[in-house]
Amino acid sequence: MKRSARAIIDSSALRHNLARCREVAPNSLAMAVIKADAYGHNMLKTAETLSHANGFAVSCLQEAIELRQARFIHPILVLQGFNTMQGMKAAAEHRLRVVLHDLSQLELLDSAAAAIKLDVALKLDTGMHRLGFPVEQAPHLFERLSKHPNVKPTPWLMTHMACADELDSPQTPLQLERFTKYTASLPAPRSIGNSASILGWPQTHVNWVRPGIMLYGSSPFANGDAKRDGLRPVMSVVAPLIAVHTIPKGESIGYGASWTCPEDTRTGVVAIGYADGYPRHAPTGTPIWINGKLTRILGRVSMDMIVIDLTAIEARAGDQVELWGKNLSVDQVAQAAGTISYELLCNAGNLCKHEYI
Ligand code: PLP
Repeated sequence: MKRSARAIIDSSALRHNLARCREVAPNSLAMAVIKADAYGHNMLKTAETLSHANGFAVSCLQEAIELRQARFIHPILVLQGFNTMQGMKAAAEHRLRVVLHDLSQLELLDSAAAAIKLDVALKLDTGMHRLGFPVEQAPHLFERLSKHPNVKPTPWLMTHMACADELDSPQTPLQLERFTKYTASLPAPRSIGNSASILGWPQTHVNWVRPGIMLYGSSPFANGDAKRDGLRPVMSVVAPLIAVHTIPKGESIGYGASWTCPEDTRTGVVAIGYADGYPRHAPTGTPIWINGKLTRILGRVSMDMIVIDLTAIEARAGDQVELWGKNLSVDQVAQAAGTISYELLCNAGNLCKHEYI
């Protein structure tokens, strides 16, 4: 079903942001993270736009196979790896590099037929405590995998930072120290950095970097400023204004009557809501852009409408409203709504119809 809200994707900004990643980490190969439908930007179109990336990273085998079926021949890293024999066979058949993070995968590998040859990335847990083997096991596991008949030479070594977005946190130096301590002597390609690491921690610029959110033009840092980091916004979410009213002083707006007009107030109704991925918990005051001006939402977000403040703004039904994009960063909206840009981009990107420019 086509609704009014649209996500306009600027492919030149996507390319610019990859170039920015390469400028910041010139000695690393860039593996563009395009999981979750490229954070809502359409995985196949994003891969096409970023076809000059050195590789792609996705969450799961299904995403990776979709890329192969669309004839992308790049190195593809599958961040969740495989968890069945069938998955392992598919990974080998499609020449995918799978993340090995759990003993159950090693057991499957040990019982694989001789013909299966798998590219693997050994995920080491240095302190994130999500996926990965304890980093102390790195030398032993690396040796075991290097000699494994079903593993193609050479396993990669990788880890993931928990707090790279906090530049004064001791967590990243601690994780890096652990990674170095247990892997320094191992002859393998390495991959550490996500966007926050790329922009904030040059020590993480090893063989491969894994940029995600920065490619989509959003800052990975809390209270960050993507423009200052040299990034350009990629997704603009727009929707039409469908009504303009003047609501009398003392009357309230929307479900729950959560906001009351302190004086007669000109308001507008925009055809977008939480069914289009706009965050329902965005409070009164969340910024919105219309006709060259910044204004705010009033009252609660409904399923497919929001009300905005049109005080001192010339606007009429049919005008386009920008929920975020070129004029209003997704980071500002995320901060106002108490969430992160990743969530806004995935939700709106997956629910609004796309237009690539
Ligand atoms: N590497 C891994 C293992 C990830 O899970 C992700 C995303 O969550 C990334 C890299 C990219 O992170 P970001 O979008 O913060 O750059």
